[in-house]
Amino acid sequence: MQHVTVNDDPVVIIGASSAGLFAAQLLAESRVPVHVFERAEELQPHARTLIVTPELQHVLGASAAGATVNTVHTLDLCTRTKTVPIALGDPDLVIERANLVCILSTRAQAAGAVLHLGHDFVDINTERDRTTVEFRRKSHGNNVHVPARTIIAADGAFSHVASALGLPRRPTVTVMQARVVRPRVDDEHVGKVWFLPNQTRYFYWLCPESDDIAAVGIVDDNPREARRKLDGFLAEQKMRPLEYQGAYIPLYRTNPRPWRRVGRSDVLFIGDAAAQVKVTTIGGTVTGLWGARAAAQSILRGSSYLSELRSLNRELQLHWLVRGIMHHFFEHEYDALLQLLGGRVGDLFAIHNRDRMAGAFWPMLTMQPRLPLLAAQVLWRAGFGS
Ligand SMILES: Cc1cc2nc3c(=O)[nH]c(=O)nc-3n(C[C@H](O)[C@H](O)[C@H](O)COP(=O)(O)OP(=O)(O)OC[C@H]3O[C@@H](n4cnc5c(N)ncnc54)[C@H](O)[C@@H]3O)c2cc1C
Repeated sequence: MQHVTVNDDPVVIIGASSAGLFAAQLLAESRVPVHVFERAEELQPHARTLIVTPELQHVLGASAAGATVNTVHTLDLCTRTKTVPIALGDPDLVIERANLVCILSTRAQAAGAVLHLGHDFVDINTERDRTTVEFRRKSHGNNVHVPARTIIAADGAFSHVASALGLPRRPTVTVMQARVVRPRVDDEHVGKVWFLPNQTRYFYWLCPESDDIAAVGIVDDNPREARRKLDGFLAEQKMRPLEYQGAYIPLYRTNPRPWRRVGRSDVLFIGDAAAQVKVTTIGGTVTGLWGARAAAQSILRGSSYLSELRSLNRELQLHWLVRGIMHHFFEHEYDALLQLLGGRVGDLFAIHNRDRMAGAFWPMLTMQPRLPLLAAQVLWRAGFGS
């Protein structure tokens, strides 16, 4: 990456999780002064088991291994009556998010980024031609104002930076997962996804950590119902919950622009704060890192953030389109979908992972013309044709 000359005001990053810390590392490596502000008093992120595509390795290199607890070579797609195994060309990685954040924090600070814990974002102010970011330091009982040439908002699904700028709250969905003890008969390298539209218009999943522990979860619109449904599902599958992990995940929409101009400074939103989440799988880790890279590149190259986001947005828009259709699937239509994916079309997943679907989409439709036909039937039945 090129090195740039900057004025003395640093890039201020709000939020020290995966997206914010990765942006900090990339900027610091190019000698841009960068300060990361995190509201937590200590960097001890909640444990969360995640499944990500091998793109994580392409983005982070060997460091991804430090956060990896298992690999997944096959994804079983299931309905009540059908199971279709999808072999993955390069295995997915099962990672522990807390480890990932610690690794990224070490990398960012080693590159020269300065991390400030216990700083809760309050507001962005402009005075004459200077922009400052205000933080509340709870432990000191005072507020500090930090000058910023560019601000990167990486403060998650309910971004306070977005609220301070008067931006509408992004829609969210509930993700609730339990670490479970599971039957030892299962292969520890096989993940599962269940499409049960009578229970949720999203899905349940199983992400194996080892031969006896897995994370099993539900994505659901209703936060109050998610835990009850998950407990019922675990009982049905004879899995014993050990602990629960849950949160809201923002849903990508095609319209909101993930940046704003405040005075002379740009505010760039990345990660969950920009809803850089694949809405088919509700995965935001790799796409959030790509968003972080796009923001860093736009600062380093002096280019527009939108142009740096082009390929990421192309992927996210495709997932948005597919999710719009999947929301209308009935159970028998999922059966038909799995039937079609079981053939040669499924082989495309060996070449294209979920973060690189744009390359697989058109070949998939031409290889199996019954796929667009099924989509058209679903949309027609759902009333789009009337
Ligand atoms: C249960 C669960 C399972 C998931 N499974 C997967 C999966 O399998 N695969 C996948 O790819 N993704 C998964 N995700 C989504 C993924 O975890 C998120 O997309 C990703 O962690 C977002 O990272 P981020 O850095 O953008 O934001 P976050 O991790 O939300 O970090 C935001 C940071 O900003 C800080 N912050 C917030 N407000 C302030 C403030 N006012 N001042 C200062 N700092 C502030 C927070 O403390 C936090 O450190 C899952 C999510 C959940 C909840």
